[in-house]
Amino acid sequence: MTKENTRHHFNLALFESYLNDARKGTAVAAIAMIQIALLTFSTAGFTRTMVWLALVLSIDITKLLSIKFFDAQMDEDKFSRYIKWHFVLQVLLGLAWGSACFLLLPKGILSLNQTLVITVLSVAIAYSASIMSASKTGMLSFVTPFLLCLLLYFAMDISQFHWWFFGTIMLGASSVLFAHFNHQHSLQHIDSQLQNNRYIDELNKLKLSMQQANMELVVKNENLISAQNRLEMLATNDELTKVFNRRYAMTYLDKVFAELKRHHENFVVVLADIDHFKSINDRFGHPAGDEVLRRFSSVIKQQLREVDTVARFGGEEFLIMLPKTKELEAKAIIQRLCEMVAEQSFEFDQKTINVTASFGLAYYKVGDTVEKLIERADMALYHAKNSGRNNVKTFDEAAMAAYMAKK
Ligand code: GH3
Ligand code: MG
Ligand code: MG
Repeated sequence: MTKENTRHHFNLALFESYLNDARKGTAVAAIAMIQIALLTFSTAGFTRTMVWLALVLSIDITKLLSIKFFDAQMDEDKFSRYIKWHFVLQVLLGLAWGSACFLLLPKGILSLNQTLVITVLSVAIAYSASIMSASKTGMLSFVTPFLLCLLLYFAMDISQFHWWFFGTIMLGASSVLFAHFNHQHSLQHIDSQLQNNRYIDELNKLKLSMQQANMELVVKNENLISAQNRLEMLATNDELTKVFNRRYAMTYLDKVFAELKRHHENFVVVLADIDHFKSINDRFGHPAGDEVLRRFSSVIKQQLREVDTVARFGGEEFLIMLPKTKELEAKAIIQRLCEMVAEQSFEFDQKTINVTASFGLAYYKVGDTVEKLIERADMALYHAKNSGRNNVKTFDEAAMAAYMAKK
């Protein structure tokens, strides 16, 4: 046997199960030993019985110790040495048990007790053999020397060579046969266990890859959602100021008007336009103008309530929408906003930029359309511009007149 195929020749799982069985076999043997010693004590005498017991016990204990030191991880060399020594011990044990005939049975016709001894011996052997059947070699290395001893014992005294010998041989043979089937069964059992383990491994691998695929799906889904959110943001928000864009404002107003037709409620739109914005661009540069637009938007947003909406309507023109707001309340909010803008000074490139804005308010009335309402806000804004800028005007006759005069 080469080094490589020692393990292969010797199915490790099978050997481990054999070692387990050998422990049980030793327990059975201990009971048989005591039984035999009690039966033969009166005929064989104290010394002979003790010698036999010591012989069997010492080999049995050595074998148990050797099982204890077995390590499935041991290297190839150690493993084959271990196997060899283990089977040498098995042979010695078989011989020790067989020696019972010589040490414990006297020559001549067998007495009843001696007959029982042979029976117990045979049964013990059959039993241990079947228990140790997970390893054919282990079982044979024990049974063969034992049977040889019996054969020798009976052969030495021809007068005893009667059916007892035949019976024992039959028992031995049937135990070997039984052990053989048991061995096949153990093999099948271990095989199906190995197969099961393989299935379990396979299942675990599948489970792992499913979990990984699931994780990937979750990540992809998150990416999709954030891409969708970003697209929605781009479609509804103004890139420079991050407030809503004109398209969103129009959709929003359409929805609000559909509601307003059903339940009449207060609704105000405000057009806000930065004063002399062109000159800001001219004096401080276009990037400064951009920054003013950004800051202006954030000031508006900060001043408005959660329910209000602001959208960039054109270059420096913003549309503010105030739902469920009465005239006076709306005017107060926008007046405060107008003052707030005027009070602020924006820093850009170490330069201070002061900005004002004009605001035109229009209130929703029954039968209004979005266009009409915005137009009225535009008229009011025009009036505010005409009235010296940095102020808030509401649509009324004066606003109307100022607007018409422009035309
Ligand atoms: P008024 O007080 O009458 O509103 O005067 P105005 O100068 O603010 O109005 P006008 O409509 O004459 O000028 C608006 C300017 O806003 C013209 C345009 O170049 C500038 N503008 C429009 N969009 C942007 C932008 O996104 N960034 C910058 N920096 N400027 C813009
Ligand atoms: Mg302007
Ligand atoms: Mg303008």
